[in-house]
Amino acid sequence: MKPLNRPPHALKRDGGSMAIVGAGIAGLTLATALGRAGIRCEVFEQAKNLREVGAGVQIAPNASRLLHRLGLAQRLGPVVVRPDAVEMRRWDDSRLLGRTELGAACEELYGAPYYTVHRADLHQSLLSGIDDNILHIGRRCVRVEELPEGARLHFDDGSTHDADVVIGADGIHSVVRDALAMDEPRFSGQSIYRGLVPADRLPFPLDEPKVRLWLGPRQHVVCYPVSGGKWVSVGATTPAGDWSTESWTAEGRVEDVVDAYQGWHQEATDVLKALDQVGRWALHDRDPLRHWCSAGGRIAVVGDAAHPMLPFQAQGANQAIEDVIVLAACLRVADQDGIPKALARYERTRRPRTDRLQQLSRSNSRRFHLSDGEGQRERDTALLGAQSLREQEWLYGYDAEAVLLQDQLG
Ligand SMILES: Cc1cc2nc3c(=O)[nH]c(=O)nc-3n(C[C@H](O)[C@H](O)[C@H](O)COP(=O)(O)OP(=O)(O)OC[C@H]3O[C@@H](n4cnc5c(N)ncnc54)[C@H](O)[C@@H]3O)c2cc1C
Repeated sequence: MKPLNRPPHALKRDGGSMAIVGAGIAGLTLATALGRAGIRCEVFEQAKNLREVGAGVQIAPNASRLLHRLGLAQRLGPVVVRPDAVEMRRWDDSRLLGRTELGAACEELYGAPYYTVHRADLHQSLLSGIDDNILHIGRRCVRVEELPEGARLHFDDGSTHDADVVIGADGIHSVVRDALAMDEPRFSGQSIYRGLVPADRLPFPLDEPKVRLWLGPRQHVVCYPVSGGKWVSVGATTPAGDWSTESWTAEGRVEDVVDAYQGWHQEATDVLKALDQVGRWALHDRDPLRHWCSAGGRIAVVGDAAHPMLPFQAQGANQAIEDVIVLAACLRVADQDGIPKALARYERTRRPRTDRLQQLSRSNSRRFHLSDGEGQRERDTALLGAQSLREQEWLYGYDAEAVLLQDQLG
């Protein structure tokens, strides 16, 4: 174990004093950002093989601008798709309810693109910027203990690792979060089927790449192209019934999801029928977390470990990326004694925004799944009137680094 009472700027000068639990989008982006800031870290991942689930993720300008600043624009270029628009349609006749322009209009307005990307491609791009030696796979953390000037990770094989700072990037079931709160994930009552379809098997041409959603009673379907347009990522929610498995690897049955969407418009059902296999998992979130760092200021959480949200605003990963960029910036200027302050500053900067998005994602879960009737008609009227890209300024126009700088100057 290294002595913990090191001189100022120990994080920068002395390698290995920072530990990240989890090598998902949050953990890998944090490792990249710290690497660029000259701070060495060690990443501990429970999985024996590093791979992502076969599904897509939408990366909005609020996160793509940060990935670009990390130097990933070129790597991402060939594998992403820049959709022209998001379109919401009615479940039975596929009538257009609302359309938000993306593509060039989005880049012009917000200075960064809207991407749809296969998770494995994003993962690979992030891994490309990280030194292999700092990644420790097959290491499952079971507990984190705060020390007077650091923290200790305990692993399932009985081993330990000490660091000046421990960051939990270990997802919704975070064990690092257990050091900060006693709460549990909340089951939403919904499940989601996810899979990929070769683009040439779609019932409509992909000449205008779009994020397409069909909204209907108790469920919705979303699909968008990924992997440079070769594949289409499909997600279909259904009431979960007695399905409560929450795992990225649990398999569902294509016939069940097709059956659940009987009576929906043919475009939506044809997309589902084109699936060869699907994953299925129950959707959980948590209430906003009150304290993102420990009392001693040596343990903090990022991404889903801090603010797991339902996927109905497509912002969980985007917020994880914002988190880690802010955290890395706070730590970059921290000396050994300043670590608790840096973590507190990170929490202060991030919490209001992610609290809001956690709530918004929950309310979308009701809004997207209204049965036909007065509420649905009101929603549809609002959708028609409020789809201007400019209304997304608070979300897409947000520059997490600039906000932190303002906080510093203010
Ligand atoms: C259906 C669905 C669709 C979504 N779509 C979008 C979208 O379009 N846009 C968007 O921004 N977000 C989306 N999200 C949310 C997004 O997937 C998550 O917010 C994001 O993956 C969180 O990343 P993370 O790194 O914080 O956590 P995770 O991806 O959960 O990664 C955690 C990592 O930690 C590891 N780990 C866990 N426990 C331990 C342990 N004890 N010891 C060591 N390692 C551990 C795990 O193996 C994993 O590698 C979606 C989510 C779902 C469910």
